Amino acid sequence: MKYYILFGPPGAGKGTQATAMVEKYNLHHISTGALLRKEIAAGTELGRLAKGLIENGNLVPDEVVEGMIENEFNTVKGIDGFLLDGFPRTLPQAEALDNILKKSSEEVTATVSIMIPDEMIMERIKGRALKEGRADDASEDIINNRIATYHAQTEPLIDYYKSAGKYHEADGVGTIEEIRERIFSIMDKF
Ligand code: ADP
Repeated sequence: MKYYILFGPPGAGKGTQATAMVEKYNLHHISTGALLRKEIAAGTELGRLAKGLIENGNLVPDEVVEGMIENEFNTVKGIDGFLLDGFPRTLPQAEALDNILKKSSEEVTATVSIMIPDEMIMERIKGRALKEGRADDASEDIINNRIATYHAQTEPLIDYYKSAGKYHEADGVGTIEEIRERIFSIMDKF
């Protein structure tokens, strides 16, 4: 099984590119953000816990997302691998992922990072807000907090995966097709 991590700041275009990646490489897409929004919409206990955190631009507790990931690994069959989108987002989550995979003698295949400058994050998220109406896209303050959360908690993962020799970066500035080709040329190596 292949285990790809799709990495990048909020608004980098991970969701957009994920669709093409799962199709071409027969992967199952796991977006922790989408799974959490589903829980919120269903009004579950987990959804109620997640709602306040997400809508202020904060992360939900590591154990919550780790449980969701392990559950997906154990239930989805008939694919060549998984595409993790929005997970891991903290160092403890990255370590937990390594431990979960180790139980079945598997490991992370590669981290594919879509990189855009901070100035572009705000612009892209505001564009998406008009189309999707996500509560965590609704105000500049929330978006700024998500950018700060990304730099403080998620960006250190770049060094974690670089040290493991698993970090690959695609420039996220360009057309959707150009970025897709950059990503495919990375994934074709595995
Ligand atoms: P974006 O790609 O714009 O950052 P996501 O849909 O991936 O948006 O995530 C939305 C929100 O869901 C995050 O801001 C965070 O609050 C929560 N979330 C998603 N994934 C995780 C995670 N791995 N750990 C903690 N919180 C998460």
